[in-house]
Amino acid sequence: MLNIGTVAVIGSGTMGAGIAEVAASHGHQVLVYDIAAEAISRAIDGIRQRLTSRVARGKLSADASEQILARLLPVTDIQALAAADLIIEAASERLEVKKALFAKLAAICPPQTLLTSNTSSISVTAIAADIHHPERVAGLHFFNPAPVMKLVEVVSGLATSPEVADALCELAMNWGKQPVRCQSTPGFIVNRVARPFYSEAWRALEEQVATPEVIDAALREGGGFPMGPLELTDLIGQDVNFAVTCSVFNAFWQERRFLPSLVQQELVLAGRMGKKSGKGVYDWQGDKPEVGWSETVSKRFSPIHVERISDGVTEIDDVLLIETQGETAQSLALRHQRPVVVVDRMEREVAVIAVASSNPDAATQKAICYLQQQGKRVVQIADYPGLLVWRTLAMIANEALDALQKGVASEKDIDTAMRLGVNYPNGPIAWGERLGWQRLLTLLENLQRHYGEERYRPCSLLRQRALLESSYES
Ligand code: NAD
Repeated sequence: MLNIGTVAVIGSGTMGAGIAEVAASHGHQVLVYDIAAEAISRAIDGIRQRLTSRVARGKLSADASEQILARLLPVTDIQALAAADLIIEAASERLEVKKALFAKLAAICPPQTLLTSNTSSISVTAIAADIHHPERVAGLHFFNPAPVMKLVEVVSGLATSPEVADALCELAMNWGKQPVRCQSTPGFIVNRVARPFYSEAWRALEEQVATPEVIDAALREGGGFPMGPLELTDLIGQDVNFAVTCSVFNAFWQERRFLPSLVQQELVLAGRMGKKSGKGVYDWQGDKPEVGWSETVSKRFSPIHVERISDGVTEIDDVLLIETQGETAQSLALRHQRPVVVVDRMEREVAVIAVASSNPDAATQKAICYLQQQGKRVVQIADYPGLLVWRTLAMIANEALDALQKGVASEKDIDTAMRLGVNYPNGPIAWGERLGWQRLLTLLENLQRHYGEERYRPCSLLRQRALLESSYES
C-alpha cells in the first residue's frame, strides 16, 4: 500500500512550511503550493534559515541541507499537484475553503492519491463528503512546530478506509513521528482532552480564588506540568486558544463542560493576545509577578503531636490536614468540629492550601509550620473545593475516559497523544489508574454537588472503573 514518492503540501503558512520540511527531510520530492505566491517563498526561506542554523550547530551536514532544499518545488498552479502520491492540505481553517480544495483535488488527481488535511477542528467526514473516492481522505494532524513535535493524529472520517489510516500511520513512523489513530470527532484527542487544563484555570481566576501566578505555579509544581495553563495560553495566543475552545464547545452542542470563559473573551476583545502582542494574562514586557508564599512560621507554632490517621488525613495537634477530595475546608471543619486545613496535590515542594474561616489563626499556623518543616513552600488560596491541581487532574482524566468510551481512540493512543501532543508528564488514563478512580469519582461528585452543575458530571466509564477498583480492594 505504501508507495509514496512525491508529496504535495497545500498552504505554506506556519504548518505547511513545517510539514514540507519534514517530508523533504525524509527524502520526498515536495510540491509546495499556496494561493499566495509570496507565502511559498517565505516558507522556503524559513526552511532554509532553520536548516542553516542546524548546519551551524553541527546537527546537519551542508550537503544534506542542500539536498533537502533541492527537493522543495514551488508550485503556483494547482493542476501540478496531480503528480503527487500524497497531498497534505494546511490551508485556512475554514470548511468551505477545504471542501473547495478537496473537490478540485479529487477532480485532478487519480483515485489512489491520498488526500489528507492538517485541520485541527474541522470534521474529516464533512471534508470528504461530496468527493469522488472519499475512502482515501483522512486527517493528518501535526502539532506546532511540525519539525519538532513527535505526535501526529491520524484521523478517520466515516468513509476513510482502514488501509489508508494504516498507510498514513506507517508513513508518520517513517518520518520519525508517533502516530495515534482517532475518529473524526470534535477536537480529535488532544484538543478535546486538554480543554479542562485551561478551563479550570479560567474558572479559578473568574472566582478570584488565586492570582494567575499562583494558579500556574500550582499546576507546574503540584501537578508536574511543564507549564502552567495560563502562561501556556499566553504562548499559544489567547485568540487561538479561545477559538479552539469555542469550536469544541459548539461542535458538542454547547456541552457545559466545554463552556468558554468570559475572562478569556475579555482578553481577546481587548487585543491582549499574550506573548505575541506583549500582554495577555501577564505583561510580557515587565517582570513576572511573584507568588505570595507564606512567610516562615515562627517556631512557637511548631506542632507537638503529628499523626497520619488515614490516607490523606494528618492530625496536627487539634488541626486536621486533609488532602482535598472536593469539599471545602469549611464544610469539613463543620463536620469534624475541628479546625481544618485542606491541601492540594504536592508532586514537588509546593503546598497550596485552603483553610476554614472558623479556624483560629494559631491552628492554621500550626498546619503551615508543619508543611514548611516538610520542606514545602506554602501558599494559601480561597476555600475552593478540589483546589487547583486535584480538580484539574480529575477533569482531564474524566474527559480522557469519556473519549475512550465514545470510541474516539484507544486507551494507549489517548495517553500517548497527551504526553506527546501537549507534553503532559503522564497519560491521563495511566494517571487516573495511579491516583485511584474511586478518589477521582468522589472528587467529581463533591464538585458536582457543590456547584449543582453538569460540568463536573463523572462519565459512566469512570463510575465503572471506580466500581471495579473497589471490588478489587474489598
Ligand atoms: P497560516 O495562516 O499560517 O497559513 C495558511 C496558508 O494557507 C496561508 O499561507 C494562505 O495563503 C494559504 N491558503 C489559504 N487558502 C488557500 C487555498 N484555497 N489554497 C491554497 N492556499 C491557501 O495557517 P496555519 O497556522 O499554518 O494553519 C493551517 C492549517 O493547519 C489549519 O487548518 C489549522 O487549523 C491547522 N493547524 C494549525 C496549527 C497551529 O498551531 N498553527 C496546529 C495544527 C494544525
